[in-house]
Amino acid sequence: MLHTPERGTLEYLPGALVVCNAEGLIEAVHPQSAPQAAVIAARHAEHGSLVVLAEGQYLLPGLIDLHVHAPQWPQLGQALDEPLEVWLQKYTYPLEARYADAGFAAAVYESLVDALLANGTTTAVYYGTVHLAATMRLADICLSRSQRALVGRVAMDDPTQCPANYRDATAASGEADTRAFIDYVRGMPGNAGAFVEPVITPRFIPACSDDLLRRLGNLARESGCYVQTHCSESDWEHRFVQDRCGLNDSAALERYGLLSRRTILAHGNFIDDEDLGRIVRAGAGIAHCPLSNVYFSDAIFPLRHVLERGMHVGLGTDIAGGASPSILDNARHAVIASRRLEAGVDPRLSRERRGRASSRIDALTAFWLATAGGGIALDKPLGVFAPGYAFDAMVVEGDVAGSNLSIEAPDTPETILQKIVYTAARSNIREVYVAGRLVHGRAET
Ligand SMILES: [Zn+2]
Repeated sequence: MLHTPERGTLEYLPGALVVCNAEGLIEAVHPQSAPQAAVIAARHAEHGSLVVLAEGQYLLPGLIDLHVHAPQWPQLGQALDEPLEVWLQKYTYPLEARYADAGFAAAVYESLVDALLANGTTTAVYYGTVHLAATMRLADICLSRSQRALVGRVAMDDPTQCPANYRDATAASGEADTRAFIDYVRGMPGNAGAFVEPVITPRFIPACSDDLLRRLGNLARESGCYVQTHCSESDWEHRFVQDRCGLNDSAALERYGLLSRRTILAHGNFIDDEDLGRIVRAGAGIAHCPLSNVYFSDAIFPLRHVLERGMHVGLGTDIAGGASPSILDNARHAVIASRRLEAGVDPRLSRERRGRASSRIDALTAFWLATAGGGIALDKPLGVFAPGYAFDAMVVEGDVAGSNLSIEAPDTPETILQKIVYTAARSNIREVYVAGRLVHGRAET
């Protein structure tokens, strides 16, 4: 068992016994040397509820993806040479408009949820589309596949920014459909424990009228729902909000009532120190999407700077702005991006002037972001093996066909985790559990 309970802290407990209760929560973690471990293990073996990992297998916390656009799954890897505003208008909105067909939506969403589970993502924070029926199907599929999920029906109504065939007709109808979606998800049979939760989802300020943003802010207060949106992502988006609102995104969102402990902001690349203070005070979380940022953000998110100031940060794939469904891919890209920021990129500048000092993070921090960091951003007991936390986990194994991950006997726990972060592929993830239930893997029935 290998996890990062605190940022910068690795705990390795070989042969540990993790006891999970019927609700899918961890009851206890017993090191192999604990006297009661063998007795408890024997009792579970008798009841057929003991799972023993094979030699060379490691139990790690499941991965948390704080930012996924589910409808963009079919365009993974497409048109990434375009700027954000062109990519949205020319490719993304026309694709998302097709989700008026709930049958098309269901097929795509089943494929996506399966792919994310196979990549070890046990919790995902999804954007759907403006379509109520299609987004309901996404919530249904997460529940039936047992993927812990937060799902948002996208709200966007500004006719100058959104195509006529793909937007809320009015601010009032955008609010009404959001309310209907919240009621649906909260009332889904089998969802009593809020395994799938609704998220109020104004796409981003440029796509929404002031009226809609105000209505959704009020709804957030009234319903207690999570909120997700984009924040200071690119030069274009950041300036657009400054020109329209006379404020940066974080200040504008606060004014609309959309910034709280239950808010997840995607990107945040252009936040200044005032934004940083505001987001930290609110307790909101950032979905850092390092791969997508390469294509659409124009700059590198100052990850270490914000972490050291107490901001809650986890990772997001930003499918399809990022062309990988893997949070492990994004963990390694978070390291790469931070190293680029520290070293700088223009060789014509002297070494001293090229980069931004003290910006790098290491693999341990990247894995913490992918697990415990995401849990903190969501204010949920996720990403750590400790009593009271959800038993969301993946079994990783080296030296399997189709992978480059090779774990050797003398490897230290730090080396094992580094190798997993930097080289593990989907094929190394042998089993995935959510709330104690096997959802992907060899023994799947
Ligand atoms: Zn996004």
